[in-house]
Amino acid sequence: MIISMRQHATREEIDHVCDRIREFGYKVHSIEGDERVVIGVVGLGDVTACLESLEATPGVESAVRISAPYKFVSREFKNEPSVIRLDGMAIGAGEFIVMAGPCAVESERQIMETAEAVAEAGARALRGGAFKPRTSPYDFQGLELEGLRLLRKARERTGLAIVTEIMSDRDVELVAEYADCMQVGARNMQNFALLKSLGGCGRPVLLKRGMSSTIKELLMSAEYVVAHGNPNVMLCERGIRTFETATRNTCDIAAVPVLHELSHLPVVLDPSHATGKRSLVPALVRAAVAIGAEGAIVEVHPCPEKAVSDGAQSLTLEGFRQMMRDLAPYVRLWRETRAAAASAAATVA
Ligand code: PEP
Ligand code: MN
Repeated sequence: MIISMRQHATREEIDHVCDRIREFGYKVHSIEGDERVVIGVVGLGDVTACLESLEATPGVESAVRISAPYKFVSREFKNEPSVIRLDGMAIGAGEFIVMAGPCAVESERQIMETAEAVAEAGARALRGGAFKPRTSPYDFQGLELEGLRLLRKARERTGLAIVTEIMSDRDVELVAEYADCMQVGARNMQNFALLKSLGGCGRPVLLKRGMSSTIKELLMSAEYVVAHGNPNVMLCERGIRTFETATRNTCDIAAVPVLHELSHLPVVLDPSHATGKRSLVPALVRAAVAIGAEGAIVEVHPCPEKAVSDGAQSLTLEGFRQMMRDLAPYVRLWRETRAAAASAAATVA
């Protein structure tokens, strides 16, 4: 259930509603917006009786039952799209945001060269793993703290926000000190201890879809982070495992509008892991723009053949520049379409 309080409900009214909810045996999750307080009610109890009682309680505007198992991230809970603020930029606020960088931070030269090139080409954030989830324990595992320090240096040099992967709940504090956005990788989408601790990390989270996860499972994982106190979650489609072998994964492009129908959270596409092939990346980023994604996260390396991981899917610096140039007219159209839709909605309202 979701209880929307009246616009100027008093603190006493809000507290009283929370007490009533608890008396019915439910847990309270309240989100205090600029205009009104919205209270999420979760748990097991007599829904009908609780709804009836709350509808008649002073200060309550509406009490509705939410059918989706994910509550806070659902459209039923919040109909307007969420905007995530990331280091001075806004994701989901009418701009298509490109995040770019290497799969892994490998050296100072590699990350600086990449950061400068992608910033100049129009990327708004620098991606790069300092902690790497690798299939083999014998492969490069990331530079860890040294990698985080290099990312900070790249941020100081270019002003780009840093997106980097967090693999364990033990490292949340450390990574949050250096990252502007915490990336949860496909392999960790259902690491519930990690998701819970990201609820209190104070940074936006980029949650990647697990390679064999359904959309519902992705949204349930996002719900973990939000229910534990962090509403700033972006969802990322990065391809799923199918019988197809021509691409590394199968890009579920329809996931973007499906997620938009089900959730108010912004959605970004990762065309690099979705295809595993650099030649396919620009076409998929165009598709991301056309289908209404809020952004894309793209792997770029100054010398892909020497990359320690994911070289085959990494664009060269020149390839990235070219992609951004070719993308510009599509992004313009994207922006105009959104502005027109927003003004049409405002006229109706
Ligand atoms: C990555 O972004 O480099 C990565 C490991 O991605 P994923 O978790 O989607 O496989
Ligand atoms: Mn990678």
